[in-house]
Amino acid sequence: MKKLFCTLFTLVFFLGMAFAQHFDQFFENKNLRVNYLHIGNLTQEALKIDHFTAGGTWNGTRQFLIEPDMYGDIVVELFDSVSNKLLYSRSYSCLFTEYRTTERGETEVTSMEESVNVPFPKNTVKLKFTAYDRKRLGTVLSESYFNPNTTPTEPLVKNYSTMNLHIGNTPDKAIDILFIPDGYAKSDAKLLKKDMKRFASYVMNCSPYKEMKNKVNIRAIKGYSEDSGITQPQNDIYKKTLVNTAYNALDLDRYLMCLGVWNLYDVADDAPFDAIVIICNSEKYGGGGIYNFYCTVYNHGEYPDYVIVHEMGHLIGGLADEYYTSEVSVQDFYPSDVEPVEPNLTTLVDFDSKWKNMLDENTPIPTPVTGKGTPEYDQLGVYEGGGYVAKGVYRPAQHCTMHQIRYNDFCPVCKKTLEEVIDYYAR
Ligand SMILES: [Zn+2]
Repeated sequence: MKKLFCTLFTLVFFLGMAFAQHFDQFFENKNLRVNYLHIGNLTQEALKIDHFTAGGTWNGTRQFLIEPDMYGDIVVELFDSVSNKLLYSRSYSCLFTEYRTTERGETEVTSMEESVNVPFPKNTVKLKFTAYDRKRLGTVLSESYFNPNTTPTEPLVKNYSTMNLHIGNTPDKAIDILFIPDGYAKSDAKLLKKDMKRFASYVMNCSPYKEMKNKVNIRAIKGYSEDSGITQPQNDIYKKTLVNTAYNALDLDRYLMCLGVWNLYDVADDAPFDAIVIICNSEKYGGGGIYNFYCTVYNHGEYPDYVIVHEMGHLIGGLADEYYTSEVSVQDFYPSDVEPVEPNLTTLVDFDSKWKNMLDENTPIPTPVTGKGTPEYDQLGVYEGGGYVAKGVYRPAQHCTMHQIRYNDFCPVCKKTLEEVIDYYAR
């Protein structure tokens, strides 16, 4: 298994090198943002491109233009319009996919804003969006052409200054994490500054970020909201804020999400970013994180250090929740006959593709809980329960930041995944 991994890695590495040479051939050092609507319900799904935005500099990887890990529900691909050669791909998830699994999503049609950044092509490209279900079956949602000379684009406009909180390297040699403060009025200026520094220190004091500090950048947008606080529709509290984050997303009280994604990207575009973290000025517990999309955290309470690194686990690592008692109303989220795409869960359908090569030879599969489940006896294994269900889904350890409220305690599998992602952005 290890040998296969090395061979695959070498192949991906050399493919990456080959594409690195091609970046300048096919792309300008500029962003192209595709802003679209994701429309539908459980039985129907459509994607409608609304407008393009262009400008700034390309801060994503130039070495791996074809993404190695396809953990997301959506894959965007750019093909050369003449040769049909794949030039760029990126995978990410979205709130729409979660909506479809709710009771309301079975019948009611919704329309959600989404945005994705790709490098600006020098010549006409075919732009293809494919949605993947839990069984990894793909459905093409949209195919269109973008001509850099004739397709209309809106310019990126800079509105905000940026605070540097931790700079490990240049944007192309690091993962660029961008904090966006929401619900901080001008009168909260001191709190905003203090909170941005506090949350940056939570990230930088947590493994593996602290060991990889030269490959991590954290900045914050210095943007104020008209009102102080965050919208809570279930309590009839409505606030005008910078990116309009609100509780009760998908009718879940503590699910804090941003429905104005186009505006969110307009604000974020003022700084280099690979990952957007919205820091919400609110006393009410809440948060949320979606792979390669954005995550949210609230700024008060007992466990903000844990909440930010947990949500960033979803956002940058594509990590699943390892807990299995929850109010989360997802039905059959992990079908038992399909290996989950997330790196830290298995249904044992294809465990070879997961952390099997990290296990001690004598580890029983599944692994019984030892030492009354206390942290000091924890060891890497295959423990039943995870991904919101108690049976049929297995997790790597008894304890993990993706499982319990435990800060700076990612299990070896989650930690390794995060290390690989940080390295991906830093190459
Ligand atoms: Zn874990």
